[in-house]
Amino acid sequence: MTTPYQGERETALRAVATASHLLTGIQNDLKRSIQKEDKTPVTVADFGSQAVICKIIHEAFPEDPIVAEENSTQLSKPEHAEILSQVTHYVSTSTPRVSPTEVCQWIDLGSGPVSRRYWTLDPIDGTKGFLRGDQYAIALALIEDGTVRVGALACPNIILDTHAGERGQGGLFVAVRGHGAAQLDFDGDSGNEIRVSNVNSPREALLTESLEPAHSDQQLNLELARKLGIRRPPLRMDSQAKYAILARGEASIYIRIPSPQTPDYREKIWDHAAGSILVEEAGGRVTDALGRELDFRSGKRLEKNYGIIVTNGRLHEKVVNALGSFLP
Ligand code: AMP
Ligand code: MG
Repeated sequence: MTTPYQGERETALRAVATASHLLTGIQNDLKRSIQKEDKTPVTVADFGSQAVICKIIHEAFPEDPIVAEENSTQLSKPEHAEILSQVTHYVSTSTPRVSPTEVCQWIDLGSGPVSRRYWTLDPIDGTKGFLRGDQYAIALALIEDGTVRVGALACPNIILDTHAGERGQGGLFVAVRGHGAAQLDFDGDSGNEIRVSNVNSPREALLTESLEPAHSDQQLNLELARKLGIRRPPLRMDSQAKYAILARGEASIYIRIPSPQTPDYREKIWDHAAGSILVEEAGGRVTDALGRELDFRSGKRLEKNYGIIVTNGRLHEKVVNALGSFLP
């Protein structure tokens, strides 16, 4: 039996793995340099990742628009020539003899419209984690008629085998609608199916949330955890790696309600498309704070949604109900 979206799945995996290789190179160079406050490496990394991924997607599916976070408007200005030259250097490690002009053209392939069928890309999700040397992800998803069909996540710093040591060797995650979710190592071929936890009681659940206090309401999560009787402290982690650990059963609840400082914040599609299909195909559920489906039709933001709740499925209604009393 042939699996649908086989070409899209393979291309998406190849794209995020190629970008992951590029970003690991930048992060290793970053560890050798001492200027931690310098934001240039993450700029270079963002553009480099977007360039290689857009090129790979465009070659395989030339008709498909790509909706990504960056464009080359600033980068192609003369005053940013040094940054563009660094981006070109890193891109050339996977694509030799590339020119700066081509790099900008590939980046701008990511300026496509939200359409009936489109890809959405976050070239580095969790830039703060990337700079700290913590978790970050490369997130790519294919959407058709508002439904995520294929999602691929690369998490270069995730621990693949929890027994293998502190930082781990990174992993790839992929899901195709109706065909399950899998975790692969970077060699790509030894994939194994992943499932959410079978935790039934919040008392046994591990809650995960963003490490960045500005990205969600951590105080609300604390109060909600108390109300639900969650006993363990929250696991704070950058990026869609949170979706990955939930999909493989290590956490059971992920909550993201806008922080009181940014109450009107609306989530970006590329921050949730790949992660959400991964969890759903692993048996979990993803809705907004009011229990509504995520809306991937309306534009770059999830305009019709407020906040995000991700669970192993069994806990979903309990969490949505408990959260209700905290919402404005
Ligand atoms: P995380 O690592 O889970 O905190 O998520 C990183 C993502 O948070 C980035 O890709 C941003 O798009 C997104 N982000 C930026 N500002 C905010 C905000 N005020 N509230 C929620 N998410 C944000
Ligand atoms: Mg992001």
